[in-house]
This record gives sequence, C-alpha cells and structure tokens, in this order.
Amino acid sequence: MKVLIVDDSKVIRMLVAECISSLGHDVIHAKNGDECLACIEKTSVDLVLMDVEMPGMNGFQTTKAIREFKADDWFPIIFLTTKQDDDSFTSGILSGGDAYLNKPINPLRLQLTITAMERIYNMRLKLQTAQKGLVAANKELEHLAMNDQLTGLANRRNFDDTLLSQFGLAKRNKSPLSVIICDIDFFKIYNDTYGHQQGDDCLAAVAKAIGEAPDRPTDKACRYGGEEFTLILPDTDLQGGLILAEKIRQAILNLNIPHEGSKVADCVSLSLGLATYTGQFHNQDEVLKAADEALYRAKEGGRNRVESC
Ligand code: GH3
Ligand code: MG
Ligand code: MG
Ligand code: MG
Repeated sequence: MKVLIVDDSKVIRMLVAECISSLGHDVIHAKNGDECLACIEKTSVDLVLMDVEMPGMNGFQTTKAIREFKADDWFPIIFLTTKQDDDSFTSGILSGGDAYLNKPINPLRLQLTITAMERIYNMRLKLQTAQKGLVAANKELEHLAMNDQLTGLANRRNFDDTLLSQFGLAKRNKSPLSVIICDIDFFKIYNDTYGHQQGDDCLAAVAKAIGEAPDRPTDKACRYGGEEFTLILPDTDLQGGLILAEKIRQAILNLNIPHEGSKVADCVSLSLGLATYTGQFHNQDEVLKAADEALYRAKEGGRNRVESC
C-alpha cells in the first residue's frame, strides 16, 4: 500500500515511517493538513496515518475535508494522537476516521491495526472489481436484449419500443414520422441456391448497407425478422422517406451480390414499403400496417422497387 503519514513533527514521521516500511509499504509524508490534501489530490493513496494537533487545519478537520473531497472513494484513515479523552475519540470517528491509536506509538499495535485495515481495503478492492465486471456484463446483456446478433442492427423489441416513443413524439410535436419496411426479393430461393450460411452472410451485408444509409443520428435501422428490415425516420416527410428508400434500394443493388434464382435481377434486390404519418393514424401499429401494405404493393408490382402511401 501507499501510506501517507501526516504529522507536523518530523521525528514522529520518521519513527512511524520506519514502522510502516518494515511491513513492505511505501511511505509518503505531509507535515500539515494542506500538504495532506494536495498530496491526496495528485496521487492515489491507500491509507493515511493522521496526527490530530497540527498548525492550521487539525487532523479531524483534514479528515473531514478528505471524506468530502473523496466522497465516492474510501481508504482507511488512522489517527495517531496523544489526545486520549472520549470527546476526541468521538470527533475522530465522526470526522471520518476508521481507527484511533495513542501516542507514544506502540509499533506492534500500529502494525496490527494497519494489517486489519489492509484486510478491509483489499476486500473493498475485490468488491469494486466484481462490481465493474457486473456493470460490463449488464451492458453486454442490454446490448444482446436490444440488438440482433447476426446483423448488429436494433432488434424487433428495440424497434417496437422506438416506434412507440417516436409515434408519441410525432403526435405531440405534430411532426411527420416515416417508417420503411424492406424485404429481400426471392430470399428463400437464395437460401436454396447458395445454402443457409451464405444466406446469413447476405443478410449481414444487406443489413450493413441499410444501417449505413441514413444520415441522421435519430434514424434507426432494425432487423424486423428473417429477411425483413425496418427504418424509423423521425421528423421525415414522405419526400424525405422516398429519397432514403430509393437510396437503400440502390445501395443493395450496388452490393452486387449474385442471385441467379431471382426473377427480377441478377443480383440481390430489395422491395420497400414506405408510410409517413402526418396526423392520419391513431397509433404506431397503423403506421406499420400502412408501410406493410405499401411493401405488398411493391412485391405485387414487380419487386425491386419502392412503394409508399
Ligand atoms: P419475396 O420476394 O416474396 O419476399 O420472397 P422470399 O423468398 O424472400 O420470401 P419468403 O417469406 O417466402 O422467404 C423468406 C426466406 O428468408 C425464408 C428463409 O429461408 C429466409 N430466412 C429468414 N430468416 C433467415 C435467416 O436468419 N437466415 C437465413 N439464411 N435465411 C433466412
Ligand atoms: Mg502534532
Ligand atoms: Mg419476408
Ligand atoms: Mg423476401
């Protein structure tokens, strides 16, 4: 541990330092409260041995200041003092100290108290490490719950949540909201021709292109299921939605993924349905239904195209 000894007497600092060093700890010194606070600000300290009577801030005031300054952190603070009355002991503990030893120093008691404090300190470090692990695991779980594993896009649940909140916002702000549903053309034949693994690779490539198409950070691309993808485009009117849908259709053709079983192109293509809410729908499901109907018309109309309503 890095141990900070705070005492206005150099002799005592040296004496204590010798005691601490023999336990294998590193020692740094401060001769008053200000020096102690400056030291804690610029280096990480694991334990403090604190004198009480010092010129300027006394040990209790310094300890209180440390605990306020390091409110989210903790390391043991042990008082070393000639003051043996109950009032002083009370002040020491209430100011934020953890142990209270008397001067003249009893080396055995000082060393054992440090050993006890070190035990608590190490346990706290273990807890902190475990907590960091939990935070990371939670983040990972949250990501898994909200994103599709194959494509990395937002998943269906994420889409449902986002559509619900964006519909609410659009309604309140009287702003347009566009939703696009995309569906890969003849994808069953693609799988039958090239195999399921290559089908998955194709889905990932298409998803990447779809995910990269929108310009605004508020736009959200999702894997709706199977070979269907959706986009939620807040504050986007029909014209804006059409531009993006056409951009996506073209981007998928540009991928130029061979699809010899397709009846509409020699590469993988997409059909897209767009619906734009401008106050006419009662809820988000109606927007989605309208986009799905537009997609149906795109399929019926020959695929590899955009239809809107
Ligand atoms: P259409 O042009 O009318 O959309 O025809 P389609 O063949 O694309 O439509 P259909 O809904 O009949 O078939 C979708 C196919 O998508 C079925 C399944 O083989 C494939 N598919 C769905 N999810 C996955 C997946 O996660 N991986 C792979 N490789 N294929 C999938
Ligand atoms: Mg003193
Ligand atoms: Mg489909
Ligand atoms: Mg399809």
